[in-house]
Amino acid sequence: MSGPDVLVDIAGLVKSFGRFPALRGLDLQVTRGEVHGFLGPNGAGKSTTIRVLLGLLRADAGTVTLLGKDPWADVVELHRRLAYVPGDVSLWPGMTGGEAIDLLGALRGGIDERRRAELVERFELDPTKRGRQYSKGNRQKVAIVAALASDVELLILDEPTSGLDPLMEKVFQEVVREATARGTTVLLSSHILAELESLADRLSIIRDGRVVQSGTLADLRGQTHTTIHATLGRTPDRETLAFFHDVHLDGDRFSATVESTRIGEAMTLLAPTGLTSLTVEPPSLESLFLRLYGDDTPAEATR
Ligand code: ADP
Ligand code: MG
Repeated sequence: MSGPDVLVDIAGLVKSFGRFPALRGLDLQVTRGEVHGFLGPNGAGKSTTIRVLLGLLRADAGTVTLLGKDPWADVVELHRRLAYVPGDVSLWPGMTGGEAIDLLGALRGGIDERRRAELVERFELDPTKRGRQYSKGNRQKVAIVAALASDVELLILDEPTSGLDPLMEKVFQEVVREATARGTTVLLSSHILAELESLADRLSIIRDGRVVQSGTLADLRGQTHTTIHATLGRTPDRETLAFFHDVHLDGDRFSATVESTRIGEAMTLLAPTGLTSLTVEPPSLESLFLRLYGDDTPAEATR
């Protein structure tokens, strides 16, 4: 798909730092109205991709279209139509949080005053403190309020809640949902699947500078296996067993795995064996995540 409903359209993006290739032919498409989760371990290339989108870095190769424009050439226009929240927000040390919100809002062609006030309250932000007095989490809140109070087409959020506590993370999830209800499109990066799970309509998973999977969470889950434990009345025939993977038969106790999309067939095959007990374990997010990330993932990423 391409055209006006693809707000972020990246194909074959390459970006190296010196001789280190941070992005090695990355493809990413974000369509209008969705929350697109951009998931990958630390160092995978999420921020580099986002910095190319923001016109802060120039691509070495590939094509990048943002809101139908060129992020490098059309930077002024584009920054009126989008808002960005980084994972580590720097603020002007002598400016109050409230002034920073207004300044950032002005750059984006204005702020919705009512929403601004409401967001300040919901995030329990004291806007009268100066930049240098804020903790990391509070600087983050200033940037989130400024972004969400602006009327923009696209929100680019790069690990935006890394400094927030769980209560505020929840507020963040609510306000992002409200933004999408207003028609805003969101690109949301994280190295933690759980942060994207409830918000993202689609996910793109990045590893070593490439998108390795893209789809809805259900799509991605469908590619993993479900585990079945059963107590059987009699031993299934060979044909039945061939349908399953990782089969263990111990007397009347049966366990196996099956593609998550084929559970119905599995039940039909097992029913004639006279089931007396049955448990079905859907693929855990953990196992999905590990499979997508591979085995060399730092433990932190699966928190
Ligand atoms: P992520 O945001 O997914 O954690 P980044 O895009 O920040 O990953 O980084 C991708 C890779 O590029 C990492 O190996 C990182 O060390 C490297 N990198 C990022 N920015 C620079 C830079 N300015 N100079 C050199 N290497 C960089
Ligand atoms: Mg990053």
